[in-house]
Amino acid sequence: MIVMKFGGTSVSDSNAITNVINIVRKNTARKIVVVSAIAKATNILEQAAHLSANGRATEAKKIIEGLVSRHYTIINTLIKNDELKAEATEKVINYHLKLEELITGLAVIKELTLRTLDAFRVFGELLSSLVIYYAMKDRDMNVVLADSRNIIKTDNEYSRAYPDMEITLNNIDTHILPLLKKGKTVLTQGFIASTNEGIPTTMGRESSDFTAAIYGASIGADEIQIWTDVDGVLTADPGMIKKAKKLSEISFLEMEELSNFGAKVLHKNSIRPAFHKNIPLRVLNSKNTASAGTVIHKRLNFPRTIKSITYKRNIMVLRLKPKEGINQYIFWEMLLNILGKHKPQIDILVSSNNAIIIVIAENNYTKIHYDDLRNEFEEISDYDLVKDKALLTLVGADLYSVNNIEQRIFRSNPKLKAESIIFGYNPHSFTLLIDQKELKSVLQKLHKEFFEKQDGTMNLFHKAK
Ligand code: ADP
Ligand code: ASP
Ligand code: MG
Repeated sequence: MIVMKFGGTSVSDSNAITNVINIVRKNTARKIVVVSAIAKATNILEQAAHLSANGRATEAKKIIEGLVSRHYTIINTLIKNDELKAEATEKVINYHLKLEELITGLAVIKELTLRTLDAFRVFGELLSSLVIYYAMKDRDMNVVLADSRNIIKTDNEYSRAYPDMEITLNNIDTHILPLLKKGKTVLTQGFIASTNEGIPTTMGRESSDFTAAIYGASIGADEIQIWTDVDGVLTADPGMIKKAKKLSEISFLEMEELSNFGAKVLHKNSIRPAFHKNIPLRVLNSKNTASAGTVIHKRLNFPRTIKSITYKRNIMVLRLKPKEGINQYIFWEMLLNILGKHKPQIDILVSSNNAIIIVIAENNYTKIHYDDLRNEFEEISDYDLVKDKALLTLVGADLYSVNNIEQRIFRSNPKLKAESIIFGYNPHSFTLLIDQKELKSVLQKLHKEFFEKQDGTMNLFHKAK
């Protein structure tokens, strides 16, 4: 049994979907196929929600119409059978109507909550899975469409909900496994889920990978395949480094560091479920099926080697010093209470005996909650904020024992300040905090230093397409 997950670019239009269907059919294993929304759909849905909340319902409806019509094009191109075509069209019309209702309602209320954002977002995956399902049926595949909202049950932390693994596993056991055993291919949506009360949730942007890992771990799959638009896990983001090379393998622990510190290729939450069940994850290119991709597994092979460099932009650094008269331990307790209440996603937290430094990414979530956080911090601390920083992280097995790692970092970047090194608190990663405007140049120099000087004979690094 395997899980195959296809991301937004792999299902962006009729041609891409035909290609995906061919990949799925070629594999004779029993499988769950997890799909994302078609490219850009989630962004468009979020945009429509924001426009509606600003009272701009007409514009919101217009961009939704554009999104829905891309699905009609897919139906008309890929579905030949008239009955199937009519069924698919009717269901898309229904989703469209529901979206229009949401827009109208929100334009009256004019208050956008994370819960309402999720109500919009789920339609991306609902629409994509629907048209792909009918395209598969049209090709006589033995496929069932399962609704992840009925299977994956989460808490009510909208926009970044986390599943209750026990209930979810139970649902997969009762509703999905029997279908697989009957030889059916189960098609379902990534990213979306619902609370126990049935209110739609999403598990964080890019979390379809996580969905795939949840299904894979629950059925005890032999492999969880993440099909995307690059040959595998690369030595750096190919958008920043043209010469980035593909890794043949990497360990779960290293991959977790890469994902945590920004590598978009795999969602950070997708590693744990696979790790616990020791199920390999494989990142593959749907546009280049000849490549064997990158396998992510338990073994920490190739120790003392830098394997990849990643980055995170829009980093803020908060320096908090307790106000006069507040004892250090009380300060820590108050601070943890504030953090526990707002639950921002902290990248790094360091403390000395008179200050705490919090390194955090400025994202949609922190934007919404930032003012609340600041108000509460200001009550207990002198507060200093530095923005426009970036985190750059080198990842590899057992970096403590890499010879001259610090010297090589600084030699290749003579202008780098010592304050930029945060630490090496994890043996598999090494993080630098730098000015955002320096990011590209530092990254290029580090990539050159660690990956472009080798002769390429090692069987870890391969040319990527
Ligand atoms: P999908 O839509 O399939 O989920 P994503 O866009 O989320 O695809 O992830 C794949 C993208 O991740 C690649 O196109 C690449 O630009 C980016 N990326 C960033 N860092 C890396 C890396 N180290 N290795 C591979 N891809 C990376
Ligand atoms: N469609 C969602 C997003 O764009 C989930 C995903 O693609 O993984 O964030
Ligand atoms: Mg992704």
